[in-house]
Amino acid sequence: MPGFELFGDKERKEVQDVMDSGVLMRYGFDAMRNGHWKTKELENGLAERMQSKYAHAVSSGTAALTVALASAGIGAGDEVIMPTFTFVASFESILALGAVPVLVDIDDTLTLKPQAVENAITPRTKVVMPVHMCGSMANLDALKAICDKHGLLLLEDACQAIGGTYDGKPLGSIGDLGCFSFDYVKTITCGEGGAVITNNKAYYENAHKYSDHGHDHIGNNRGAEGHPFLGYNFRISEMNAAVGVAQVSRLDEFIAIQKRNYTILREALSSIPEIVFRTVPDGGEENYSFLNFFLPTEDISKKSHQALSENGVDGCFYWYNNNWHYYKKWEHLTNLKSLGNLPKDVKESLPDYSKADFSESDKWMSRNISCLIKLGWSEEEAVQRANTMVEAVKSSI
Ligand SMILES: *Cc1c(COP(=O)(O)O)cnc(C)c1O
Repeated sequence: MPGFELFGDKERKEVQDVMDSGVLMRYGFDAMRNGHWKTKELENGLAERMQSKYAHAVSSGTAALTVALASAGIGAGDEVIMPTFTFVASFESILALGAVPVLVDIDDTLTLKPQAVENAITPRTKVVMPVHMCGSMANLDALKAICDKHGLLLLEDACQAIGGTYDGKPLGSIGDLGCFSFDYVKTITCGEGGAVITNNKAYYENAHKYSDHGHDHIGNNRGAEGHPFLGYNFRISEMNAAVGVAQVSRLDEFIAIQKRNYTILREALSSIPEIVFRTVPDGGEENYSFLNFFLPTEDISKKSHQALSENGVDGCFYWYNNNWHYYKKWEHLTNLKSLGNLPKDVKESLPDYSKADFSESDKWMSRNISCLIKLGWSEEEAVQRANTMVEAVKSSI
């Protein structure tokens, strides 16, 4: 997955442009910047590639989620439905606004289970936030239908699935809002960064203002600008955006390499009858950043994971036991361990996750192994790895 594996001349040139002018800020300093507006360029490139009217770049994927929610007017006491399998950023962004993260089960897509979403809806629900984990997507048709029926917003977290598609449309562009991360280990990276995409002008207008202290960005005298509402600082720097400009232009190149390497591993593992690959919803195409499969039992999955690592196959994850990606290890959320007082709405409304029944999620996660697909492997290396993986998995069944 990581785009940092393939940094090269394009990235260097973009960064050098910024160094030459010395303007590291995305706004202002018009006379000094030699015509370089890297963040604008990144946004334009992303909007075009994602077939969306608007893109707004920010300082991280977590910032993108926070800004997206804020832009749609989400605030204290609103409930946001999110999956049990994701990154902690999902609930962090929700909590940052005083809203309430409502966890629900996943299914064999490793993303939100539509029926579980429907069951979790209350009068306070405002948003459904599918997270397209490990390169593949939620059943967006089903989720969209639920959102339409109940008047909810659909916010896609496409941080791990950039470049994947659903019904021929780029992931992130299908919901009311979509978010990407360009952190150091994502498919395309700019060190730290993220972006919100949308076709909704009002959300876009809110997003650029909110992420820059409420600046209205009218005219070219920053100090004289108005502030129509309270904001915050989630700005990206020009240095980071410059790397992003180069990386976005290479997205399709990266996806093609991932697809080749993924296909080599998948075809080899298909020879093992006990392996079942993760379900990709009809009409979906992964971005091939991970290869995900299920084994028959929790025990076999643990043994296989162990055998893979003992045989030198790095980058295979057993997320069921993972600190950052699965609800089981989120004691800090369950016990509301915060440095200061949390908003009253959160304390009163957060479900008691120590008592929650996520056995449906456990059923899938306890049998899942997820292998990172690297850009740096040659075809020969991928073939060799595939053979080692087959032997390791077979030895544990
Ligand atoms: C990486 C990631 C984020 C957060 O992105 P950062 O840029 O690291 O803040 C959010 N959601 C998912 C699913 C991620 O993988």
